[in-house]
Amino acid sequence: MRSRRVYSRYFSLRQSSVAQSPYANSDPKYKRCTINAIPQTTALLNKCKIPFGLLITPYRHLLAGEEPVPVINPPQIVRCRRCRTYINPWVQFVEQDTRWKCNLCFLTNEVPTFFDWDPETRAHVDRRRRPELTHATVEFVAPQEYMVRPPQPVVFLFVIDVSYSAVQSGMLATAARTILDTLDAIPNADNRTKIGFITVDSTLHFYNLNPNLTEPQMLVVSDLDETFLPMPYDLLVTLSESREVIDKLMERIGDMFKNTQIVQSVLGRALQAAHKMIHAIGGKIIVLQSTLPNQNEGALKAREDPKLLGTPKEVTLLQPQTGFYKNFAVSCSPTQVSIDIFLFSPQYADVATLSGCAKFTGGSVYYYPAFNASRPEDALKFANEFSHFLSRPIGLEAVMRVRASKGIRMTAFHGNFFLRSTDLLSLPNVSPDNSYAVEMTLVENLTTSLACFQTALLHTSSNGERRIRVLTLAIPVTSNLGDVFASADQFALAAILSKKAVERALTSKIEDARDALTYKLNEIMGAYKSSFTTSGQSVQLLLPDNLKLLPLLTLGMLKNIAFRQASTIPSDLRSFVMAILYVFPPELCVVQCHPRFWSIHNLAPQIGLPGQDGQITFPPLLNLCSDKLDRTGIFLLENGVEIFIWVGRAASPDLVKMLFDKPNYDQIVAGKTTLPTLQNDYSSRINNLIGKIREVRIQMATCYPHLYVVKEDGDPALRMWFLTQLIEDRMDAMPSYPQFLGVLREQMGKISAA
Ligand SMILES: [Zn+2]
Repeated sequence: MRSRRVYSRYFSLRQSSVAQSPYANSDPKYKRCTINAIPQTTALLNKCKIPFGLLITPYRHLLAGEEPVPVINPPQIVRCRRCRTYINPWVQFVEQDTRWKCNLCFLTNEVPTFFDWDPETRAHVDRRRRPELTHATVEFVAPQEYMVRPPQPVVFLFVIDVSYSAVQSGMLATAARTILDTLDAIPNADNRTKIGFITVDSTLHFYNLNPNLTEPQMLVVSDLDETFLPMPYDLLVTLSESREVIDKLMERIGDMFKNTQIVQSVLGRALQAAHKMIHAIGGKIIVLQSTLPNQNEGALKAREDPKLLGTPKEVTLLQPQTGFYKNFAVSCSPTQVSIDIFLFSPQYADVATLSGCAKFTGGSVYYYPAFNASRPEDALKFANEFSHFLSRPIGLEAVMRVRASKGIRMTAFHGNFFLRSTDLLSLPNVSPDNSYAVEMTLVENLTTSLACFQTALLHTSSNGERRIRVLTLAIPVTSNLGDVFASADQFALAAILSKKAVERALTSKIEDARDALTYKLNEIMGAYKSSFTTSGQSVQLLLPDNLKLLPLLTLGMLKNIAFRQASTIPSDLRSFVMAILYVFPPELCVVQCHPRFWSIHNLAPQIGLPGQDGQITFPPLLNLCSDKLDRTGIFLLENGVEIFIWVGRAASPDLVKMLFDKPNYDQIVAGKTTLPTLQNDYSSRINNLIGKIREVRIQMATCYPHLYVVKEDGDPALRMWFLTQLIEDRMDAMPSYPQFLGVLREQMGKISAA
């Protein structure tokens, strides 16, 4: 996703790093900037109209074949005396290499002797081999002074709905089985991990999990006037010690509530009790909720109103209906408690309100509309996601600070966190899935040839060590507007624009978010045109190659469920897509707005098989328009959260047989499905493609995409849903890509050339 020109720029840039290492600059998967040549002056930055921002995914999960971040434990962590920047590959050694010049504030600092001399071996060492000087991304083991208290253990406190719909849908049983199956994989390297359970319907149930008990003991609290915990019991226990009692609870919990008729939920009280249980330690509250909380503190109304959808008032449904959950989340943040929320409602779930719990605590939202575990696909999706969620590494009690070269200032942050001071993000938990966007501006002209950005994430790792992950990005400074345009990263731009649009939609109106997206595109193109074209070229739409996709990406955002003009999108779904776009890393923001689309009825020999790099080879991508659909064909599409197989009416019966194990097209069942694994080459190659998509999505976003089979003349709603992914087509009132370009051309015609 990076043009060759930008790559070569990175390569030549490397020569100016102290160790000239190939790892001297940040991998864009961890950290990337919207422009890869920073304007030297505010005038130049203003002129280009390109948003100046960073996208940071500091704790991302490694994909297959990727190198882990080097972990180092030097005698001393070397930082600038003045601005506290960590020493990195972009400092300069000066005064006969006895001092280092900070690349952010330019102060010179002393080089410690251990950089050149190993006191243990009593031998000279080459400082240019130190990981802090060769690698842009490193993780320091933090000494005592980075701790305000001993590192906390991992704490998982489950708050599980046991009301009628939670039991009937099979959510409770699936959750319990998944927890049971995953207990060995929960981060617990230091054997300190603590676990607790609260179950909730119209009352609260706590569980004494004392390791000496033969059975878990349930304690019911039905007096809900105040939040209090049954005392003195072992409600939060060490996993390794109480494992047998926890196993028993998970084995029985489904039966304990199987005959319930209770349709009330006092989730607000449960959350308060949960916080009381772990506030002194910190940790994760994991909420599994099926019934809309409808009693006591934090009670919500089923407020969905189809009349409002598609109107300017729709936004009221996307905003929280009470401040309770946000306020609660804000009170959790300083106690290092984060909240992740899994929603399963058969009807209205109020994603908009409940997602506030996650938003301000660094958590995440997972949404399973109309979940029904008796459908194997539903059970499998939730079990896969929940299991990955529980077993993936987490960072605890974290804060993240972003620093930049003198002259650059942060102006806004986007993502799930609580902003503790102007540039300090509080993240009670740091999720590998979550990305953070930073908007920046120039407050004075830059005086050096490189601009640098350093992010430091202080956290406690799952194995109980205090660590600092440092990510440093260096970008050349330019006085040439052409360089700024030629270095812009359209994917980073689309990601930051989508996050800003979410914020705009929620604080104003969805229409304003759409207008802002179109306006920004026009502005960037106008700035380019007025500087780089001559009047003879006015009918052309000119953009440098690296920005050629920006109009299409913008159109994809305008047509995305988050922002589309439509009166049929349930507000829960709209809220959920906004919530995920807001935290997705750039790769996923892009694929959500611009899906990947392939034909799979005419596979070249290597497709669906591992290539030389061991990775599954995909077919060439198709343009996202229905012209590509061919009634004799079969097509595959994925958008990061869903996968579709479209089958044409005249698709080859042989392929239909090999893929679906059905004699002909008519017998294929459309809808959410599981593709059979059959003993033939075609079936295994297509299953490989789908398996690969799922493998990457689960690691990037804890998402196991459902697969939908769409028949050319099948269920109209399903067909429509699939067709809305083909963003180059016309969609209701929204233009096709050629029409969209036509309008842009018209707008550009009004701007005079250079
Ligand atoms: Zn400094």
